[in-house]
Amino acid sequence: MTTILYSHPACIEHDPGPYHPERPDRLRAIMAALDGEAFTALDRREAPRADAAQLALVHPASHVERILGAVPTEGLVHIDPDTAMSPGSGEAALRAAGAVIAAVDAVIAGEAENAFCAVRPPGHHAEPMRAMGFCLFNSVAVGAEHARRAHGLGRVAVVDFDVHHGNGTQAFFADDPDLLYASTHQYPLYPGTGAREETGVANNLVNAPLPPGAGSDAFRAAIADRILPALDAFAPELILVSAGFDAHADDPLAGLELETGDYAWVTERLMEVAAARCGGRLVSSLEGGYDLDALAASAAVHVGTLMTS
Ligand SMILES: [Zn+2]
Repeated sequence: MTTILYSHPACIEHDPGPYHPERPDRLRAIMAALDGEAFTALDRREAPRADAAQLALVHPASHVERILGAVPTEGLVHIDPDTAMSPGSGEAALRAAGAVIAAVDAVIAGEAENAFCAVRPPGHHAEPMRAMGFCLFNSVAVGAEHARRAHGLGRVAVVDFDVHHGNGTQAFFADDPDLLYASTHQYPLYPGTGAREETGVANNLVNAPLPPGAGSDAFRAAIADRILPALDAFAPELILVSAGFDAHADDPLAGLELETGDYAWVTERLMEVAAARCGGRLVSSLEGGYDLDALAASAAVHVGTLMTS
């Protein structure tokens, strides 16, 4: 079995404006990196659209309608100072969430052990009732809830190694003991959540905040000492990964100072828990990462490692 790669050209058409770090070239850079000989075995699939009922698993229908209804026919519409929509943004957001849903379906059906969704906009800052932080809909949370509601899975975990804390995912997961959210992130940093003391209703939030400049050793220690034991003890039936690559040393938005090789390492560790606990079932989706070269290289080692399953 190989790794499935979900993407869609519509995800390039979301353009939050000139000089915005979350730009279409991010996805172009990743797709170019995944075009090499090492990636010919990828099972490349077009992401379908998420439908209203699927988004409503996390986001109330009125909120979804408000967001999609605000997509402009020309120019930009700002949701907050960081988050803007262009005419292509609605379709991109539907494909991004649809990619994670389809990846969950495929992995649960046994069509592959794992999958990577090369999509944008990202999702982990999107709360059930609030789009923010470059994010419109929380694709990974929708995928987790889809795994439970459509496939009857009991426990689903999300591991988030984006440099920012996934406040949106945490907000949806916090009160549900059958959902685990585990995150490494720079702290303090946008969005301000993710303190160690935020533990959820049943220690189902595992926040591992790291100081600016923490580097590879501190990151690996947080994963090994805090995230992996909690993830293993939770015994997930599916692991989702919020794969942001903005903790890389070259990233302009933060300063956690990771190296490209750290993304291979963390991917291997998560695959080991997936193999032990849920038949290897792992679905990863792109979140942040704003230096094009570091982003492309990091995503490539992440996907290359997934392909070794
Ligand atoms: Zn980020």
